[in-house]
Amino acid sequence: MQIILASANIKKIKELQTILNFENIIGYQEIFGDFKIVEDGKSFSENAWIKVDAIKERVGDMVGDYLIIADDSGLCVEALNGMPSIYSARFANIKADLKNLMNKDFEIPNKEASDEENNLKLLQYLTQLGIQESRAKFVCTIAMYGRVRGEKLNGEFFGELKGRVVVGKLNSQAFGYDPLFIPDGYAKTLDQIKEKNSLSHRYHALEKLKVFIGDKI
Ligand code: IMP
Repeated sequence: MQIILASANIKKIKELQTILNFENIIGYQEIFGDFKIVEDGKSFSENAWIKVDAIKERVGDMVGDYLIIADDSGLCVEALNGMPSIYSARFANIKADLKNLMNKDFEIPNKEASDEENNLKLLQYLTQLGIQESRAKFVCTIAMYGRVRGEKLNGEFFGELKGRVVVGKLNSQAFGYDPLFIPDGYAKTLDQIKEKNSLSHRYHALEKLKVFIGDKI
């Protein structure tokens, strides 16, 4: 069984590998090379299936069993009317003042920004609002398509992690917005929580996937 992750984000791939804990899990670029998947969907679900479909096209008549797994995830901040949402990876490249951001009135960027740039953008908006923290949640939609013993398999799974974003210190080693997010029930940010991979939005979505594939693989 070959599991292909429809992601080019090294930090995300690492988390997916750790949580799934199966053999033969690799990022798509290791098989198909460095091509970019254009995520122009209007929801986490649409973007997750766009990623699956892009890999499906290339898998073609690959021999043997395989699963393609795509994770589309992001941060939704209440004080920002749910943003950056599906634009989490591109947040710093959105050119919009606070009002237009909240009204989702901006040109959609297609280029991703660095984690540091995105975190700084979030801090900038919180500062403009004059607040130190806001309720927020991480969400994750997993789309999965595969072939197991000749049978096609597909499913979609969702997970979330509730908490708050806070004005705090950045951490260049961390993944995404982890340095600015404190999960409910904790007093520290997600980048400082060793058991992140057994409480995260990604974990919750993948647990559902694991139950679904259960004895099928
Ligand atoms: P995607 O790769 O298009 O799904 O974009 C996901 C983006 O959401 C990442 O680049 C991060 O900015 C953010 N994100 C998703 N999951 C996490 C997480 O577990 N921690 C921190 N940031 C995350």
